Amino acid sequence: MSEITNYKYYVGGKFIQSTSGNLIEIICPYDQSIIGRVQAISKEEADVAIAATKAAQKDWADTDLFKRADLLNKWADQLEIDAEEIAQMIMREVGKTWNDAVKEVTRTAEFIRYTVQEFIHTNDAAMSGANYPGGSKNKFAIIKRIPLGTVLAISPFNYPVNLSVAKLAPALIAGNAVVFKPATQGAISAVKLIESFDKVGFPADILQLITGKGSDIGDYVSEHDGIDMISFTGGATTGRHLSSFSTMKPMVLELGGKDPAIVCEDADIDKTVAEIMSGAFSYSGQRCTAIKRVLVHATVADELSEKLKTAVEKLSVGMPIDNPIIVPLINEGAADYVQGLITDTIAAGAELLVGNKREDNLIYPTLFDHVTTDMRLAWEEPFGPVLPIIRVASDAEAIEIANASEYGLQASVFSQNFSRAVAIAEKIEAGSVQINGRTERGPDHFPFLGVKNSGMGVHGISRTIESMTREKLLIINV
Ligand code: NAP
Repeated sequence: MSEITNYKYYVGGKFIQSTSGNLIEIICPYDQSIIGRVQAISKEEADVAIAATKAAQKDWADTDLFKRADLLNKWADQLEIDAEEIAQMIMREVGKTWNDAVKEVTRTAEFIRYTVQEFIHTNDAAMSGANYPGGSKNKFAIIKRIPLGTVLAISPFNYPVNLSVAKLAPALIAGNAVVFKPATQGAISAVKLIESFDKVGFPADILQLITGKGSDIGDYVSEHDGIDMISFTGGATTGRHLSSFSTMKPMVLELGGKDPAIVCEDADIDKTVAEIMSGAFSYSGQRCTAIKRVLVHATVADELSEKLKTAVEKLSVGMPIDNPIIVPLINEGAADYVQGLITDTIAAGAELLVGNKREDNLIYPTLFDHVTTDMRLAWEEPFGPVLPIIRVASDAEAIEIANASEYGLQASVFSQNFSRAVAIAEKIEAGSVQINGRTERGPDHFPFLGVKNSGMGVHGISRTIESMTREKLLIINV
């Protein structure tokens, strides 16, 4: 039997062991083997990691932009070299299929390169006093963007590399230092990510990887005076909790969703079915932007539900290495929760079309018709492969149900009447509305945001850079 590795955290440009002696075992979601252990660092070690960023950040911000860019580009190259090794860990640790795990790493290398270019092409702006009534033509403002200082990057389990780098790369190119706290289930993938970062030769202390349970050190580091900005992606409950004590600290939150797919009677039903299927079920629905409810006009509901049923029955189910659509969920608690929702929906009287089968953490894809608004499944985010169909009588009813959710991340509208689709989209309370396409995050340079309990602030490469910098004016009086 091979020995179990104790993965170290990363501070001062070195991988080190916590003096706490506390380790967290990381269990593979699909074969329950121990993949490794990560350090549960102490609050004092978090203090040291954060304090060390202060001097390093000033030097880093003063470093020639093209030197910073060169290092980040080298990291992108290194990620491509290390892609298979990192992908292997993503697959083992968060149960993502092999193909998707490799894609996650290569997509991330592209993300870094684009981010570097985006920042290089961001120029300072200038204004003249003469453009304000009574203003002086002898006054000029140069508006620069400067880094905020030390960014705390907290990422979720489901994209342990991509959603982490979506914070790290914009922060670093803009001249910030970063304290990176990954999801515990995802922390070994984060160590692998930082191993490739370490090979490139960045200065010490501009990026610290700290590991440990959010429930133990999360509040402490989030409240820490040494943190100048928080960039968080995760569940709504955690996000709301963080926002409750982030006094005067800029914060961007990307949270959960209950994205509706609204299907009008004039939709191209075959295309709609294909989009809903990939939107709802890929990676077993463990995507913030998964389609999590279907609101269909009653006149086409039979046809849609029949075709969705056929498609769900054909979904491949299995282990990540075989690249199926449906893989085991992240842990037993997640599978219990999804199974609970399924059992509850059956008891509440919805029609089960396919599914309600479980083997350990593997929940088979499950489709319900005739779900009504008094059922939990109409409102809760399962983060698993279960999709409710809710029948509606009008566009107005679809909009009303879509907007009654606590969430507002994305939505899809399917109709061949473009004006009608746009009219619906304009009334939906969500960060983005896809017309005739599945809900999804990319491409990564689009702004990405949620409203209500789905988030605060905006992500997407240029917007993330903006959120991690602030304007500073130099006013020249001639
Ligand atoms: P989570 O349980 O909220 O955890 C997210 C991160 O927060 C983890 O790193 C976690 O660390 C940390 N954390 C927990 N308690 C904390 C505290 N008190 N202070 C600071 N950090 C704390 O979410 P998850 O289960 O990993 O991810 C699934 C959720 O994320 C879903 O709701 C999904 O919709 C959402 N999500 C949203 C987006 C988006 O872009 N909108 C993208 C992906 C996922 P530990 O792991 O150590 O607990």
